[in-house]
Amino acid sequence: MSEQRLVYLDNNATTRVAPEVVEAMLPCLTEHWGNPSSAYSLAAEPARLIEEAREHVARLIGTNSRNIVFTSCGTESNNAALQGATLANPAKQHVVTTAVEHSANIKFCRQLEKRGYEVTHLPVDLDGAIDLCDLQAAIRQDTAIVSIMWANNETGVLFPIEEIAAICRSHGVLFHTDAVQVAGKVPIDVRELGVDFLSLSAHKLRAPKGIGVLYVKTGVPFQPYIVGGGQERGQRGGTENVANIVAFGRAAELALSHLDDENTRVRALRDKLENGIFKAIKGSVRNGGGEPRLPNTTNIGFDGVEAEAALLLLDREGICASSGSACTTGSIEPSHVLAAMNVPLSRSKGSLRFSLGIENTEEDVDRLLEKLPPIIERLRDVSPEALGQAGEPLAAAY
Ligand SMILES: *Cc1c(COP(=O)(O)O)cnc(C)c1O
Repeated sequence: MSEQRLVYLDNNATTRVAPEVVEAMLPCLTEHWGNPSSAYSLAAEPARLIEEAREHVARLIGTNSRNIVFTSCGTESNNAALQGATLANPAKQHVVTTAVEHSANIKFCRQLEKRGYEVTHLPVDLDGAIDLCDLQAAIRQDTAIVSIMWANNETGVLFPIEEIAAICRSHGVLFHTDAVQVAGKVPIDVRELGVDFLSLSAHKLRAPKGIGVLYVKTGVPFQPYIVGGGQERGQRGGTENVANIVAFGRAAELALSHLDDENTRVRALRDKLENGIFKAIKGSVRNGGGEPRLPNTTNIGFDGVEAEAALLLLDREGICASSGSACTTGSIEPSHVLAAMNVPLSRSKGSLRFSLGIENTEEDVDRLLEKLPPIIERLRDVSPEALGQAGEPLAAAY
């Protein structure tokens, strides 16, 4: 196994940093190490590099660089949008979101509730879709902000963000979308979308972890989440992470140039993987397949299997996949996304997510299609139901 190429099918958890990105960021750590806010000439180049990166990120989402605020991660961007909008409208103490958001939003909303806010979590149907009538009905006079993700990280299901933004606009309510999983996979034009805030994270886009972006529309009431120096036009304090910002800029450029590849070749690989699994493995069901979705993601449930056991056996074959979001893997809790979709527990516990990227090849898919069917079969042979003995240790299968 050690000589085998790693088959990495978990690009929604994170991506490998592109060599071009590493190359772009290295000089920021060696030559251009000055504090971009300083007055001397050592600061000029890092300051210039930041503005260049800001323009590249702005281009990726169809905006002006003045609307780009660099943050420390996608989580911070999501928190900052909710915090910024609620602080700026203290009289409004209601927030609308969905039941399937990233934990960055779910947990922040839980904190808002502790502070006396009311939060409406819109439900989803079995395909993972929300009903826009529910959204219409949920918005109130005292709604401070609506926060709804664009693409779900676990299932790849896309929400109709343009329509959602229009509904929010017609009610005069601020709208934030978590577009972390969308960037580089679907074209983004914030002007067409009409959103007020949009979150991005660089590490889902072939740049390093620890750098995010919050798009803030001009004129929108917003208060900074992290306060300190006047960096980021006073919208986010803290000395800039120059190398990571430059990395994000380069990755944004690459993402634009690879959009076609994601939507043709990567989509075809995903479809081949999916169809291959359905053909080879009885009792495999796609979660969230009836809705528009990302070109790179599939989430498939296997009856009578524990996902964690399947992942361990796949790992032994040098294959990386996931049982949902990396943030909840390792916890025994079933996915909150699949639970909200009313996927029966017997299937959600045996659900695997495969998320591809532009580095994947036909051989990667072929290897998965060779290795996965016997793994599922083996696990089903030793599943408690098969043994007729509840609680038989699954370890027997490894
Ligand atoms: C990964 C992810 C985040 C969090 O981004 P980090 O940079 O890891 O904090 C937020 N939302 C979605 C949909 C994600 O997939």
